[in-house]
Amino acid sequence: MRYLVLSDIHANLQALETVLAAATVSGYDQVVVLGDLVGYGGDPDAVVERIRGLDPVIIVRGNHDKVAAGIEDSSGFNAIARRAAIWTRESLSPENRQYLVSLPAGPLALNDSVLVCHGSPEDEDLYIFNDRDALRALREATRPVCLFGHTHLPIVVHLVDETLELVARATEAETRVQLAPAVKYLINPGSVGQPRDGDSRAAFAILDPGASSIVLYRVPYDVNAAQARILEAGLPASLAHRLGVGR
Ligand code: ZN
Repeated sequence: MRYLVLSDIHANLQALETVLAAATVSGYDQVVVLGDLVGYGGDPDAVVERIRGLDPVIIVRGNHDKVAAGIEDSSGFNAIARRAAIWTRESLSPENRQYLVSLPAGPLALNDSVLVCHGSPEDEDLYIFNDRDALRALREATRPVCLFGHTHLPIVVHLVDETLELVARATEAETRVQLAPAVKYLINPGSVGQPRDGDSRAAFAILDPGASSIVLYRVPYDVNAAQARILEAGLPASLAHRLGVGR
C-alpha cells in the first residue's frame, strides 16, 4: 500500500492539482491528509471539494480548518490570517464547510506503524520547530512513524539510542528515505500550498510502509496563477508575495 501524504494545502488549487498529477505518475493507492486544507489561499471551496473527492483513508483537521469551520474563533491569528479566515468562511459552500466541521482532531493511527497529526501528537495545535519539541513528540508518538504538518517545513528526523538525528530535508526533486526497523521517525512532508523553507516548490510525500520507505517530493507549479487568485479574492498582497519566495 502506497500512501500519498498531503499537508497544509491552504486553498492553493494550482499547487494541489500539480501535486496530484505528479503523485499519479509516481503511483499511490490511498490519500492521507494532515490538515489545513484552507486558509491564506484563493480557492478554499474548490480545494475542499477536490480533497473530498479523493476520499482520504485518514484526514485530521488543522488550526485554519477549525477557524474556517467556525469551531474556533480567529483570536489566535495575526491580522492577515484573520482576514483570510473570515473570507474563507464566507467562500465555502454549506457542504464543504460542514466537511471541515466534521474533520477529526489528531493524533489518529493509520495502522500499527503510522500515526498522523497536524501539529504534534501531544496537541494538534503545537508546532514542532526544534529538537526539544521533536523529542517530546517522539516520546508521545505511539507508532514508529509519526507524520505531522503545521510548520510547513519538510523534514525527516529519527531517534536512535535516545539521540535525535536529522535524516533528510526535501531540497531535491526527490528525496528517498529508507526506514530502519526499531527506530522512531518524525516526518513532515512539507506544505503543498504555502512552503516556508525558502523554496517555492510544492511539497508532498509518498509513504510505502510495506517497502519501509518514504519519498519526499518537490514540484514547481504555476505560482503566478495562485497569486492571481489571492489578489482577485481581495486578500492581502503579502499572501501572494510569500508564495513566490517560499516563506
Ligand atoms: Zn498550515
